[in-house]
Amino acid sequence: MKRKLLFATNNPHKLEEVRAILGDIAEIISLKEVGFLNDIPETGSTIEENALEKARFIYDRYRIDTFADDTGLEVEALGGAPGVYTARYAGPDCRPEDNMRKLLQTMEGITDRRANFRTAIGMIRGGLDFVMEGECRGDITLEPRGTHGFGYDPIFMPVDSDRTFAEMSEEEKNKISHRANALAALRLFLSVGHIDY
Ligand code: IMP
Repeated sequence: MKRKLLFATNNPHKLEEVRAILGDIAEIISLKEVGFLNDIPETGSTIEENALEKARFIYDRYRIDTFADDTGLEVEALGGAPGVYTARYAGPDCRPEDNMRKLLQTMEGITDRRANFRTAIGMIRGGLDFVMEGECRGDITLEPRGTHGFGYDPIFMPVDSDRTFAEMSEEEKNKISHRANALAALRLFLSVGHIDY
């Protein structure tokens, strides 16, 4: 029988993506299914801390092995900003367009456009902490392009591509994205023999 694994997210798209990648080796349970509908605190100063904090918060309530993810966009010329503040770069509860506009304005005149999307997955298994990571390197474009995806997709162009994430199909993006790479690491971790998933 497949082990149950709780994914600490309220985002139905992420849940779908995770089930597609891990569904054959683990039964992925959502927060909705365990009846948790509130926000999870995120007070860490790194994406790794946040991912573990979210997973720990849920594990302590339900005692089911749990994982959570957290993503940051790190721009080389800005010393790694917005990083852990990626979701609220333009202020609390801001829209993705506000975040993109702020980033493009901040980078006006900057020719080094290199950036890195980084996802940390924090997992609590048998009460212990584990962290896995995935990244996707690319460039910040000069203006938004494309209509697919979400967040910063219209201004992020992965290396070896002439299209932004927002100009790719979901399938194309999911082969190379930071989250896909972090999930591949999680998949490997879960399939290691002695861990018995
Ligand atoms: P979260 O940790 O997944 O909630 O993501 C933090 C921030 O990064 C949010 O502002 C997201 O919109 C942004 N973000 C995360 N993943 C992606 C992505 O694949 N494309 C564009 N933006 C993303």
